[in-house]
Amino acid sequence: MPISKLKWFCEGSVPGKRLGKVRHCFYIDKLVFKGRTPYQEILIFDNSVYGRTFVLDGIVQLSKIDEFIYHEIIVHPIMFSHPSPKKVLIVGGGDGGVLREVLKHPIDEVYLIDIDEKLIEICKKYLPFVSQNSFADKRAKINIGDGMAFVNKFEDFFDVVIIDSNDPIGPSSKLFSQKFYGDVFRALKKDGIMIAQIGSFLDFESMITGTYRKLKKIFPFVYPYKLTMPSYNCGDYCFMGASKGIDLARVDFRNIEKRFQKIQKKLKYYSPKIHQASMTLPKIWQIKG
Ligand code: SAM
Repeated sequence: MPISKLKWFCEGSVPGKRLGKVRHCFYIDKLVFKGRTPYQEILIFDNSVYGRTFVLDGIVQLSKIDEFIYHEIIVHPIMFSHPSPKKVLIVGGGDGGVLREVLKHPIDEVYLIDIDEKLIEICKKYLPFVSQNSFADKRAKINIGDGMAFVNKFEDFFDVVIIDSNDPIGPSSKLFSQKFYGDVFRALKKDGIMIAQIGSFLDFESMITGTYRKLKKIFPFVYPYKLTMPSYNCGDYCFMGASKGIDLARVDFRNIEKRFQKIQKKLKYYSPKIHQASMTLPKIWQIKG
């Protein structure tokens, strides 16, 4: 059925347990954009409940009502866990949401490497509420290319690396590999910290535990961060933090509180208490190393 007549978008292709067994649908109140870039299929539509919604290769990436949850939790817990992050790398993140949040901190420079230049242009045009002009910030160095090849050029350089990829399909799949995590380790300074978007706790064994074990072979400190994204319809979701020198479970929350006060007005979701709560997992999701 041609998309213009299609009044529903149904997501069913998320890798993991739900693939092919669960579909969740959004009514398309207004079709905003549909097209292919050299790397992925993009669909953007308005839904009266979730607002403007952004879909890549059939998988919901974000919607207006909840994108800030994802972008604040993938950025602020580790930016505040590092005593003074000055050089940051974002791998992926072509919608600009992570970039927007990183720039709220007093950093010197943030590099963004995304494989899809066309996607960045489309997101700037149809999802301006996500990047909020952050691509134009003088501290932002925007690069186009493969994240794995880009990270390989650096050693002992970044304080924080944020892997804001798609799910492990298409061009993103290599960003879930042990080799890539090893390259990130090398690109980080001795106190460096990374975080990666992983997936739903529904896929606990394959995705969460699997990624934990891969990272634990490389980093001394590895911890999951839990969040809930209403538009993902998958229950609690997991980002995985990994640190070379700082124990992420023993950071100084008095110092974090002081730094948080300085940017609190710009945040909608993160707080030091939410930070601690995101690291508190129920027994069923405690990872046995
Ligand atoms: N911020 C989104 C959200 O809120 O869910 C997360 C996904 S973001 C749209 C994923 C980005 O990763 C896309 O912009 C895609 O072009 C990029 N990407 C995928 N594979 C990549 C690779 N190998 N190197 C660099 N960027 C890649």
